[in-house]
Amino acid sequence: MKNKGQQFVADHVIGLPRSGIRDFFAIVAKMPQAISLGIGEPDFVTPWHIREAAIFALEKGKTSYTDNLGLLRLRSEINKYVEKNFNLSYNPDSEILVTVGVSEALDIALRAVLNPGDKVLYHEPCYVSYSPSIVLAHAQPVVVETDVKDNFGIDPDKVAEAWEPGCKVLLLNFPTNPTGGVTEKAKLEKLANFAVEKDLLVISDEIYSELTFDGEHTSIASLPGMKERTLFLHGFSKGFAMTGFRIGYACGPSFLIEAMMKVHQYSMLCAPILSQEAAIEALKNGLDSVMKMKEAYQKRRDLIVRRFNEMGMKCHMPKGSFYAFPSIELAGLKAIDFCRDVLNKKEVAVVPGTAFGESGEGFVRASFSTSYERILEATNRIESYLNDHIKT
Ligand code: PLP
Repeated sequence: MKNKGQQFVADHVIGLPRSGIRDFFAIVAKMPQAISLGIGEPDFVTPWHIREAAIFALEKGKTSYTDNLGLLRLRSEINKYVEKNFNLSYNPDSEILVTVGVSEALDIALRAVLNPGDKVLYHEPCYVSYSPSIVLAHAQPVVVETDVKDNFGIDPDKVAEAWEPGCKVLLLNFPTNPTGGVTEKAKLEKLANFAVEKDLLVISDEIYSELTFDGEHTSIASLPGMKERTLFLHGFSKGFAMTGFRIGYACGPSFLIEAMMKVHQYSMLCAPILSQEAAIEALKNGLDSVMKMKEAYQKRRDLIVRRFNEMGMKCHMPKGSFYAFPSIELAGLKAIDFCRDVLNKKEVAVVPGTAFGESGEGFVRASFSTSYERILEATNRIESYLNDHIKT
C-alpha cells in the first residue's frame, strides 16, 4: 500500500533513501555553538580574480544562453588544462561538454549510457549520490568494498570478484570522498586491463584531483587504450572553491559526449554563462590560488590525523581530498549513535560513515575544510567526549 499522495511518485523514487547527511545537518544548523567537521565544501571563498571575472561578464551584459556544449573559449581552456595536468587531450569541438557541476555530468553520463537493468560497478564507501544516481537511471548498483588496510584504495582483484554479467560501467572516484583514498598507477593499470577485458565503460570522477597531497595524481583515462572507453569528469567546486558557481565538465569520445549532450540539451540546455566566464579565468590564472589552498588543507590534514591517532581513533593518512575517515571502534558505538552523542554532548559535528554506504560502519567522516584553530578545538572536544564516554 502506498501512503496518501504517493501514487503520484515513481516507485524507484519512493525507494530512494534521503541523504543521511542532510537530516543530520538540519540539526547542526540549529546549534550555533557547534563546530562542524561535516562540510563537504571548501571554507575558502572563490579567489577574487575569478569572482571578478563573473562580475565583469555580468557588467558587460553577458546574460544569454551559450552553445549547449558550453562556450568554445571555455572548452579550449579545459583542453589546455587537462593536457598540462592530466596528460590528456580532447577536441574542444566534439569531446568536451560543460555541465552544471560534476553532479550533472555524472547524472547525464549514466542516463546516456545505461539501459534499464544494466549494472554499474563502483567502490564504497563513496560519495552519497552514486547509488541513487544509478537507481535513477534505472540501473543496478554493484558494490566493491574498499578497505582501511589498503588505505581505501581499490583492489582490482575485488573488482574482478564483484563483476557479474550485465556490468556495463565501472565508476571510479580518486581521490575518494569520504575516505581520501587514492589508487597507485600499477593498480589503475590492472583495472584498465580489466575494463578492456570485460568491455566496461569507465566513468572517472576526478573532482578532488588538485587536492592530491602525496604522490602524483594519475587519471585512468591517460593509460593506454583507455581514452576511448573513459568519461573523464571534473569540475571547479573543490580545487577552485567554486561550489556555488555549479560548473563542471565531461571529456570523452565524441560519440559519448554527443549522447550526453542530447540529455543535457533537453534537461539543462547549458551551464550558466557567468559561471562559464568565471571558469575560464579559473583555468587561465587560478592554479596558484589552488596551490595555496592545498597547502592549508595539507597542514590541517596533518593536524587532524595526528589528533585522531593520539586519542586512539585510528586514522589512516588520506592522500587526497579534504576528508579524514577515522575509526570509532574505540567508542563501541554505531556510527550514527557516535555522531549524535558527540553533537549533543560536545557540539561537534562529524558525519557517520554509513552515510557513504553500509561499509562505512565503524567510521566517521571529518572534513578538514575548516580552520586549523577550529579543527584543534573540535578534536579536543572529541577527545574529551571519548574520555568521558570510556570512563562511564
Ligand atoms: N563528486 C564527488 C566525489 C563529490 O564529493 C562531489 C561533491 O561533494 C561531487 C561530485 C559534486 O560536485 P559538483 O559540485 O561539481 O556538482
